[in-house]
Amino acid sequence: LHPPVSVLGLGTMGTALATALLGAGHPVTVWNRTQTKADPVVAGGAARAADAAEAVRAGEIVLTCLLDHTSVHDVLDAHTGALAGRVLVNVTNTMPEESAELAAWAAGHGIDFLDGGIMAVPPQIGTHEAFVLYSGSRRALDTARTALAALGDVRYLGTDPGMAALQDMALLSAMYGMYGGILHAFALVRTGGVSAREFAPVLARWLGGASGLAVPTAEQIDDADYARDVTSNVTMQAAAYDGLCDLARARGVDPLLLEPFGGLLRRRVTEGHGHEDATGVIDYLTTTTSPG
Ligand code: NDP
Repeated sequence: LHPPVSVLGLGTMGTALATALLGAGHPVTVWNRTQTKADPVVAGGAARAADAAEAVRAGEIVLTCLLDHTSVHDVLDAHTGALAGRVLVNVTNTMPEESAELAAWAAGHGIDFLDGGIMAVPPQIGTHEAFVLYSGSRRALDTARTALAALGDVRYLGTDPGMAALQDMALLSAMYGMYGGILHAFALVRTGGVSAREFAPVLARWLGGASGLAVPTAEQIDDADYARDVTSNVTMQAAAYDGLCDLARARGVDPLLLEPFGGLLRRRVTEGHGHEDATGVIDYLTTTTSPG
């Protein structure tokens, strides 16, 4: 019921993962390159492995949470014999092609491989706020599912090993776009003497509502119909958007994070799409118009 799990890599995230697994009742063995970082989780009940090989042998499920793709190979390449027949779950941040490379490497050594993208910060691990995207071996998922559920909501995206990384990167891209907007908004209200704390509640409310844009926008994209159910046409939006940049400049706030999108909106108008929704900007970002 509680298969033994080994956690390799005890940075901020690996420590949170090991702690959540201990909390869920799994026997946990840990290893970290800098050994002292294991002290807190060992004090919490984890077994300390003397080296990575010992850690690999102790786990039915081996969880790697290292810096990057290269560090995963640095740690595991010498232990393929011990890894054979085990489930390897890599939640280290990797690009889709790197996840695919790891999956091929694992398959070549008889290792059951699942790649993960953690959509949470360490304090959220083990809470209902955390979810983790997985892709790769279905059998690995089935073996590890109970343990993985201790980390956060398990969202399996299929057997393409790079899919979790691709969607992880897409979500992060969306988040950074939003984060840039948040910082610009705080900078703008500061020019009016409004503190960030004071403005935060209304900003949070606004962003919560704005997240509802995802679904109708998706429908317009998938149907390639940017003129359907338009409530805010691009001509109006482009005019209003110019105002955002002008106001920022007048107030001494650099609109450098906003300007590129305004240029794309104006281009939609110039090219005859003023009556549509802003969704059509996607056509300037990509030449791929259908999934895959
Ligand atoms: P940390 O910088 O805290 O930890 C990095 C870990 O990688 C340490 O255990 C470090 O060991 C180890 N490491 C780095 N290079 C090597 C190497 N060549 N050989 C062996 N071990 C190595 O990072 P986090 O814990 O925050 O992040 C870990 C992973 O989790 C990253 O891929 C990150 O993208 C991902 N992640 C992190 C999130 C976060 O908010 N923190 C959110 C979502 C994903 P040592 O202690 O010896 O330096």
